[in-house]
Amino acid sequence: MSYKIAIDGPSSSGKSTLAKLLAKELGYVYIDTGAMYRAIGLYLLENGINTNDEMQVVSVLDKIDVTLDYDKENNLHVYLNGKDISNKIRTQEVGEAASVCSQYLKVREKLVSLQRKLAEEKSCCMDGRDIASNVLPNANLKLYITASDECRAKRRFLEEKEKGIDTTIEKVLEELKARDYRDMHRAHNPLIKVRDAVEIDTTDKSPDEVVDLVLERFF
Ligand code: C5P
Repeated sequence: MSYKIAIDGPSSSGKSTLAKLLAKELGYVYIDTGAMYRAIGLYLLENGINTNDEMQVVSVLDKIDVTLDYDKENNLHVYLNGKDISNKIRTQEVGEAASVCSQYLKVREKLVSLQRKLAEEKSCCMDGRDIASNVLPNANLKLYITASDECRAKRRFLEEKEKGIDTTIEKVLEELKARDYRDMHRAHNPLIKVRDAVEIDTTDKSPDEVVDLVLERFF
């Protein structure tokens, strides 16, 4: 029987890091749903589509094929129309485009059906915003990951600095809060903590500490 772990939380809370490490420890498949919304965001940016124009976005959805695959080391790769775009989607601009287009019902329907298919008959760790509430409501374990605003902004700032992006903690915090607000207040499948989710605060915890905590408590 397959075992499903649903991991939700706001941006930079540590959910992807946890999902990836947990999947590795348990030998499960890791499914990064944010990467799929980012792939659509990238397509829109590269093709000059106005992300704020729902009709325009919906009109090109049939031209967008998003797939996930794993290399020999089991690292996840994201493909857009057959091209590996994993290295292009981790920018603030793509994240923003993903957050805007993820508000549209047709975009969500397209990706949610794909996400459910990917999880079929497999033990997996899936992370995102609506996994426990919508994609895998019957998941065996539901985790809601949080961290303080300051901690999340610091993590994101250090990531951007490493990539050579010139920014400030204040600017990063502002962007994070705007994205969280949109993700939590949209009409379709907003980020929520479901009743049966266990909340884990990763502030001041290393990735390994968080994984150990989950493994000790639930496995
Ligand atoms: O998690 P990540 O930052 O990669 O996600 C990018 C954006 O995709 C989020 O800000 C959110 O708007 C959207 N998303 C979503 N539902 C998911 C995963 C991501 O709406 N399950």
